[in-house]
This record gives sequence, structure tokens and C-alpha cells, in this order.
Amino acid sequence: MSNVWPASAARDSTGALSIGGVDVRDAAAQFGTPLFILDEQDVRARAREYRIAATQVGARQVYYAAKAFLATGIARWVHEEGLGIDVASGGELAVALRAGVPGSDLLLHGNNKSIHEIEEAIGAGVSRIVLDSFEEIVRVADVASRLGIVQPVLVRVTIGVEAHTHEFIATAHEDQKFGFSVSAGAAQEALRRIAMLPSIEFRGLHSHIGSQIFDALGFEEAAVRIVGFMSHMSKELGIEFAELDLGGGMGIAYLESDDPLAIGQLAAQIADAVARDCAAVGMPVPALAFEPGRAIIGPPGVTLYEVGTVKAVQTVDGLRTYVSVDGGMSDNIRPALYDAEYTVALASRTSEVEPMLVRVVGKHCESGDILIREAYLPADLAPGDLLVVAATGAYCRSMASNYNYLPRPAVIGVNAGHASVILRRETLNDVLALDPGA
Ligand SMILES: *Cc1c(COP(=O)(O)O)cnc(C)c1O
Repeated sequence: MSNVWPASAARDSTGALSIGGVDVRDAAAQFGTPLFILDEQDVRARAREYRIAATQVGARQVYYAAKAFLATGIARWVHEEGLGIDVASGGELAVALRAGVPGSDLLLHGNNKSIHEIEEAIGAGVSRIVLDSFEEIVRVADVASRLGIVQPVLVRVTIGVEAHTHEFIATAHEDQKFGFSVSAGAAQEALRRIAMLPSIEFRGLHSHIGSQIFDALGFEEAAVRIVGFMSHMSKELGIEFAELDLGGGMGIAYLESDDPLAIGQLAAQIADAVARDCAAVGMPVPALAFEPGRAIIGPPGVTLYEVGTVKAVQTVDGLRTYVSVDGGMSDNIRPALYDAEYTVALASRTSEVEPMLVRVVGKHCESGDILIREAYLPADLAPGDLLVVAATGAYCRSMASNYNYLPRPAVIGVNAGHASVILRRETLNDVLALDPGA
């Protein structure tokens, strides 16, 4: 049984939930609902844990994957704990720079970086640009040359391994938009072209194999294939591979039954596999880097909703109780997008009443606007009660929309009884300001 709640989550004597010493009823009253609450100490502890695990296996850097959720406050927390940041757009880059993170701790991703984004990144001195296409090799080389800089780069390769939770699929081919295919020869051609361009400096390969991965098996299969390719290329083209960035994808517990491997263990197993594979082909071991997103920011975050209606609906099997909350697919698209599962609890009080089976739904005009397909909540659940959904720190606010013209929720950080605004709630005026209204 895994704990799915932020490290500081606790019930006070009245039964109400508190996080970081802040009573969720007070948070709801002050900031409104839906509300994202992040346990600052938990975020920092997870970032530290990654930093320590990386140091123990001799890795060169851990880049926090900004796409999971970024704001200047978050960039500062993770950077203060020793992580760099992986940004995948000019917008994410701007937030990281605004937070004071130096370019030397940033890495730029993306499969279609604009010239402007490349200029901004190189101008900011980003430590690595991860190249993803032949067009981009030329674009990055041109911009670097124009700015009089030799830009360190990694090359993103796809190696036919796709990993999710306990499974990985290993194929001989690749059918996806990211990276250069090793099997099709594109990766080899990319290395050949990069070697001819003096304004970019090749440092090594990058591979990202999936998301919500619970064990090391997929990474180990990826390592065998990557090391095989590196060995082949170093013999054929005399290329040195100083670094290997293995991306993110480390899984978290959304449900109590989820049981991801601890990061220390995962990092050790991955590093051992890379070292073993390199020894087998007589190659020096490259310096590793990792890019966790979800594993840092997911579990410390929760979403607080207010119940609006409780409706019993007759189905062929009996009654189903629909509990509607004041947000939904605009603040958490993952259940609709990937059938993602979450844990929910009554947050504003406890109840001695028997639980009932419910479906928790949002307020959007879409029957697929389901947050939790099946959950047990107390049968006396009523409008005005607060519900809390666990592990929503990653890929919820960052993927939020204004569907149905709902302003996007606020994000607060909580620590030692104090709440601070990470992102304020969007107002209807913010949204209406986009419409010239003529
Ligand atoms: C999405 C992504 C990550 C982060 O993935 P998580 O599952 O959040 O750890 C890291 N690197 C790359 C290239 C990605 O696309």
C-alpha cells in the first residue's frame, strides 16, 4: 500500500484535512475552489532525493521536467535543491529565467523549436540543446554560429523501446514524432552531419522511453540498445559519447495499490545496467542525466473541489450516484485523455456514515468529463463538502484549459502553516481581455 497523499497531509481534531499545516477549509475560503495545493517541503524533499540518488550513481545532472508544472516559485524550489530544469518551449524557458535559474542549469527540448526559441535559448546560455530533426541541426548550428557560440548538444534517439508502468514494448521500428531513429539509420546520419558543424559540440545521446514507469526493465532494455549503437558509432565514426541523458518517466502512486520503485533503487539499477553494457563492449561509461517531472511535482500536489450536486441516476444495474464538483476536465484532463485513475477523499470533515459508490464528475458540457469513475465516499456527502484528489501536482494545472470559459484555478504552496500564491486564480476579466469585443 503506497501513500498517495502529500507528506504533511494530516487530519486535525475536527476531522478536516490539513496540508503543510494549512486547514483546507481555510485555504478554500481564502483562495476559492477548485484549488491546487502543493506541499513545498514534499516537493523539495523529492528534488533532494533525486539529487542524492544521482550523485550516488555519479550522474552529472538531474533536470526537472518543466512541462509537468512550472511557475517561478517551483523553478526556485527545485533549483535551490540542486536540480537543473528541462524546458520544452520559449515560454517554459522564460519562466525558468525569470526565476533566476541560470542558462547553465537549463536544457532545451522540443521537436519543433522555432528559430526565435533557439535564439533565446542560446542567448541565455542553455547548457544543452537536445536535437530532434535534421532541420534543427542546421538551425541550431546557424544561430550558434551567428552568435559566435559553440553550443553543446545532445541527440535524441529512438530505439524501439516504449515503457509504461510494469510493461515495456520493444520493437525493431519506431513510429513516433520524436527523435532520430537508430534502426532506420537517421541517428547515424545526424551524428555524421553534426560532426561537420563547428558551431555545435556533440556531447552525447538522449532517450526518453515513456511515462509512469514502475521498474528498471524498460530502461535496461533501452540501455542495451543505446550502448550497442554508441559502440558501433565510436568504432565507425570515432565519435566520443561523454554523456547519456535517459529522460524522465519515473512513476508515482496515484492509487494506494500503485507501487513504484524508490528513486535510489531505480537510479542504481539503471546506472548498473549502463556500466555493465559499456564494459561488455569496452566503452567508457558516459555521465548520466535524468529528467523527472511527475515524480517530483505529482505526489506533493492535490486538488480541492467543492461539491455542488449529488444526483442518483437509474441505470440498468441499479442506481449510480453522480457527485459534481466545481472543476473537471479543464483542470484535470488526464482521466479523459488517458483513462487515468485517481484517489479522492472527503476533505472538510470526516463521517461515520457508511460509504457509497459514486462517480465524481466535473461541471463541463461533456459526458466524458469524469474525474473518478468509481470511488467510495460517505453516503451523507452533501453540497458544500470539500473533496480532495491526490497526486494532481503534475500534468493538471500545466494542461489546464478554459473550456466552457472556466477561469483556471489558483495554485498555492503550503509550508509550516503558511500558504502562498504560486499562480493566482485566473479571473473572468483575464479571459475576457482576449476578446476585443467589437
Ligand atoms: C515528458 C518528458 C519528461 C518528464 O516525464 P515525467 O513522466 O514527468 O517524468 C522528461 N523528458 C522528456 C523528453 C519528456 O518528454
